[in-house]
Amino acid sequence: MEKITLGTRKVSIEFPGVKALSDVDFEIGTGVIHAVMGANGAGKSTLMKVLAGSNPDYTGEVLYNGNVVELRNTAAAKKLGIQIVYQEVDMALIPTLTVAENVMLNDMVMNMGKKQLVNYAQIRKDAKETLARLNVNIDVKRLCSTLSLAQKQMVLIARAIQHSCNFLILDEPTAPLSDTETEELFRVVRHLRETENMAVIFITHRINEVLQICDSYTVMRNGTVVDTTPITSATTSKEIVDKMLGRS
Ligand code: ADP
Ligand code: MG
Repeated sequence: MEKITLGTRKVSIEFPGVKALSDVDFEIGTGVIHAVMGANGAGKSTLMKVLAGSNPDYTGEVLYNGNVVELRNTAAAKKLGIQIVYQEVDMALIPTLTVAENVMLNDMVMNMGKKQLVNYAQIRKDAKETLARLNVNIDVKRLCSTLSLAQKQMVLIARAIQHSCNFLILDEPTAPLSDTETEELFRVVRHLRETENMAVIFITHRINEVLQICDSYTVMRNGTVVDTTPITSATTSKEIVDKMLGRS
């Protein structure tokens, strides 16, 4: 499958009183699971938001297949197949709607003549197909308010991959999950890498998870990228911690 790359060159972001990112160079290609690590406040979410078009005031360049692209809104990122799922799943879901409706939320109203109509049969069918791409079994007629947090996350991942998705960014997805739910998420993430050649970028603090599932990782500290490295059988948790804390 064709490999696509996404990266940044000297990307910086300044919030009032805080330099959240300083000259960040970063690159990732499709077909890998990649961890972004670092202490709280290191700039992980800020960098991922730049890639998702949610931090429009960045300076520097975002590169897609080596070409400069302007990611000044989420629509521009989505057009390139860059999708992000935030940790606050409840903010992105409408609890009183079904799984099908929440998966298809961005495509629900079809323009049919002068009337705005929702084709519920089609929505259920499309949502089912998308969940099948994740190899996840959730009844699409259920209300989202009845789902577990892990299932809600799957609904949002389904929404994210509903259209073409090359880069799926998950911001601390495992933080609220049990061990079993984390295993299930990893199964889904691996499945997307194998079957769709997606890049899945996930932010995490948990080093054992990174060693278990990721192909490579980036460590950030104080708004900079400290290192990006493949994970091999020789990678140790100690070297990752040392990079995160800046010890030698
Ligand atoms: P991380 O995800 O690694 O924990 P963040 O990227 O969220 O870190 O934050 C990096 C720095 O930028 C922190 O100092 C944080 O307080 C600051 N920051 C992030 N977003 C904003 C914002 N919208 N306004 C002001 N400061 C922000
Ligand atoms: Mg964060």
